[in-house]
Amino acid sequence: MTLAPDAIAAAVKAGLQAALETTGGANASYIPYLAGVPSGLCGVCAVTPDGQLFEAGDTRHGFAIESISKVFTLALALEQSGREAVRAKIGARPTGLPFNSVIALELHGDKPLSPLVNAGAIATASFIKASGREDRWSQILGCYRAFAAAELPLSKEVNESEQATNLHNRAIVWLLASAGNCFCDPPEALDVYTRQCSVLVTCAELATMAGTLANRGVNPVSKTKVVSPGNVPPILAEMAMEGLYDTSGDWAYEVGLPGKSGVGGGVMAVAPGKLGIAAFSPPLDPFGNSVRAQKAVRTVAGALGLNLYAA
Ligand code: GLN
Repeated sequence: MTLAPDAIAAAVKAGLQAALETTGGANASYIPYLAGVPSGLCGVCAVTPDGQLFEAGDTRHGFAIESISKVFTLALALEQSGREAVRAKIGARPTGLPFNSVIALELHGDKPLSPLVNAGAIATASFIKASGREDRWSQILGCYRAFAAAELPLSKEVNESEQATNLHNRAIVWLLASAGNCFCDPPEALDVYTRQCSVLVTCAELATMAGTLANRGVNPVSKTKVVSPGNVPPILAEMAMEGLYDTSGDWAYEVGLPGKSGVGGGVMAVAPGKLGIAAFSPPLDPFGNSVRAQKAVRTVAGALGLNLYAA
């Protein structure tokens, strides 16, 4: 059943209102750029499979995509190598631990388990078939742009801020490499991963990216096939298991939709066949998930009855 446009518009408006009434959290501070983003920014968007956009709040402000990028690099890896290869090389299990956990690696023979934690995302970037660093990067950025139907820019400022401070991720890439789980030159993998986190998106663009996943891999705005329909379910399964890291279970319990967060303050969720939802606001909970964006998405999904586990 398709959702009524009036109902979506009302839900998006209610999502913004609920988010604005929600306080708490703090901007990510381990990446200097993110600490300086105005904390009061807040936006909510939804995109239908036929390309209608609904928006409320600061929906045209570009913010760092951060970990939400991991979903789209995974999509490219699945397109290139297929689901069994990605599962064998990276994994398809939740870690239950923070997104940058080294203990998670140690516990599993330096295998990342999930493409949606830092280790797994760096490994996934390294697993992209490419002739070199710039080819790897341009394929990944091209894939993100196809998902968004927009010329998403790499932010020089965010990238420089992250490249100068990503010491923890440097340790992770060398641990991966030590166990044969980095599939290109380790500094190249880390560089490309750091760049992918530094791409700017708006809430409206992120909702289109989620809408592409909601629309069996066809971009609802450009009508272009971005990912094979058969690769969408494993992407959504990874999001369900690990999209909000250690609180993915709480998210499933409360919202019932595959979601993905990033420390830039974005959260997206996918209601298959029905809606792509995105929200943005910088202050994060202790697990790295935007407090207000979670509230906004939860409100939209609740108002429209989108919980996948409900009959
Ligand atoms: N660039 C960030 C990092 O590597 C992304 C983390 C996130 O959004 N959870 O730590």
